[in-house]
Amino acid sequence: MSDVLFANALADLSLPRLEPGTVWLVGAGPGDPGLLTLHALNGLRQADVVVYDALVGDVVLGFARPDALREFAGKRGGLPSPKQRDISERLIELALAGHRVLRLKGGDPFVFGRGGEEALALAAAGIPFRVVPGITAGIGGLAYAAIPATTRDTNRAVILATGHSAGGAVDTNDWAALARTGLPIILYMGMTFLDGIAAGLIEGGLSPETPVAIVTDATSARQRILITTLQRAKVDARERGLGAPAIVAIGEIVRLHDVLAPYAITLEDLA
Ligand code: SAH
Repeated sequence: MSDVLFANALADLSLPRLEPGTVWLVGAGPGDPGLLTLHALNGLRQADVVVYDALVGDVVLGFARPDALREFAGKRGGLPSPKQRDISERLIELALAGHRVLRLKGGDPFVFGRGGEEALALAAAGIPFRVVPGITAGIGGLAYAAIPATTRDTNRAVILATGHSAGGAVDTNDWAALARTGLPIILYMGMTFLDGIAAGLIEGGLSPETPVAIVTDATSARQRILITTLQRAKVDARERGLGAPAIVAIGEIVRLHDVLAPYAITLEDLA
């Protein structure tokens, strides 16, 4: 398709307007700007204010209008993140002031992204909002590591789980119970408590040799993939200096990586 036809096809979509006094809760995807949706791009071109999180990359942010106000609302330099209530109140304040507000989050806003809490706060304040889903790291990031979340031969369900509780301090999932389902587990924020999580899963019946993939900075040029086992995951990750942001996949689906990775074209600059 020629560039002109491409531009016309986009124009024909007549994508929605971001109205003054409203908020879009937008998922930016896991990192690769190519995984941004057209709705996200269209919203970024219109927003007066972009309130963004730590996991949103500069290239994506660069799609905002040059004169748009960019407000950072994530964790920076080890400092505690702003209180969720403060962020929600800020969104409400900006909308009430008549701005076109775009709240930009990594991955999908409703998957471990507090987008649900922000939507509830906006609804309670009577502020109209639109949710623009994004590609979540647990699915898109794994795909870039050549690991399908499901295949008919391996699993008919999958568990998305977080390794942190709401406060971020403790780990509250019942790992033994999740293990007993026999389903693959895709873990967000799983690095801090990886040892305890692995122990809980083994207690629940998973073999210590269950394959595990750790994908850090998935879909970005810094992406790294470690294939290991449940028993060795924490030690291997530490040895290689792997840290957040990371997706940890646990289960038979991980074995597909070895078969697919040699042929999977994902990030052009990775060997
Ligand atoms: N809403 C986001 C998740 C936010 S929670 C989404 O849908 O993807 C933050 C966690 O997401 C990180 O600790 C990490 O576990 C995961 N994550 C987000 N982006 C990632 C990336 N590019 N690579 C690996 N993990 C990522």
